[in-house]
Amino acid sequence: MSKQLRTLRSAQPSNRNPADEAFSKLRSEMVERAIAARGVRSKQVLSAMRNVPREAFLPHQLREFAYSDCPLPIEEGQTISQPYIVAFMTEALALEGGERVLEIGTGSGYAAAILAEIAGDVYTVERIGQLAEKAAATLADLGYDNVHVLHGDGTKGWPDHAPYDGIIVAAGGPKIPETLKKQLKIGGRLVIPVGNDPKIQELVRVTRISENEYRREDLADVRFVPLIGHEGWVPSDHRPTVAPSRPDGCDRRRGSRRRRRLRNRASRRRSALPRHHRRRRA
Ligand code: SAM
Repeated sequence: MSKQLRTLRSAQPSNRNPADEAFSKLRSEMVERAIAARGVRSKQVLSAMRNVPREAFLPHQLREFAYSDCPLPIEEGQTISQPYIVAFMTEALALEGGERVLEIGTGSGYAAAILAEIAGDVYTVERIGQLAEKAAATLADLGYDNVHVLHGDGTKGWPDHAPYDGIIVAAGGPKIPETLKKQLKIGGRLVIPVGNDPKIQELVRVTRISENEYRREDLADVRFVPLIGHEGWVPSDHRPTVAPSRPDGCDRRRGSRRRRRLRNRASRRRSALPRHHRRRRA
């Protein structure tokens, strides 16, 4: 039932127009303000974040929010991850350039494009067929011919191209899938959100030390949509993921008074917590 989708280049990126210029300026500002200033140091990751047009991965009506550092709703009730968390997870993979990387949870294709700016080849798996199709088309239009998209259950990895230097999982599972650990090269790194609650996880990095040894490091508290599949949650384990129809919390100008009040209250509560209890959102 797995199906690989074509990401061959179908169009050359068009000449830049004033809207592209405006997005590019917003993108640079966001990278400085929300990513570099918050501790992401890798030059390659920062450069990738400056290059990839996030607006191209969003539904048209949400493009204006592309450079608010927030997760946003995409089709099929899923989300495009927050740019900061994409940068943080990519940096945690410690790529140097030219590697073979597996991503689970293609979603819009945005994080795959960030990885493709650094890695040699990116293999990305998405369980929802419509998302896989759309992401493959967007990546092709932008000329990312080193990204390969598969429609299937990513908890089974993509054995045909294993072993991988890095594996990144963009959805939270109840445990670290053994299949993914086995698809790592010795020395390779797996970055994945895990936790008993389908909505709250610990972001973990697993490094394969030898054939049967792995080292685990806890990196941050995060919130991701559930990883559903053979070594993830079964569909009945979690409530349907309903992404907000508006990018709540992203645009201060447009929020209703009530939303602003709720947001401010949540933010006051968060800042009252010790730092390590504040959650990063996917
Ligand atoms: N990386 C994405 C982006 O940049 O837009 C965001 C991914 S979104 C937070 C998580 C994605 O994981 C969803 O599209 C969801 O359908 C997908 N997903 C959940 N379980 C999966 C599985 N077992 N295999 C593949 N994809 C899965």
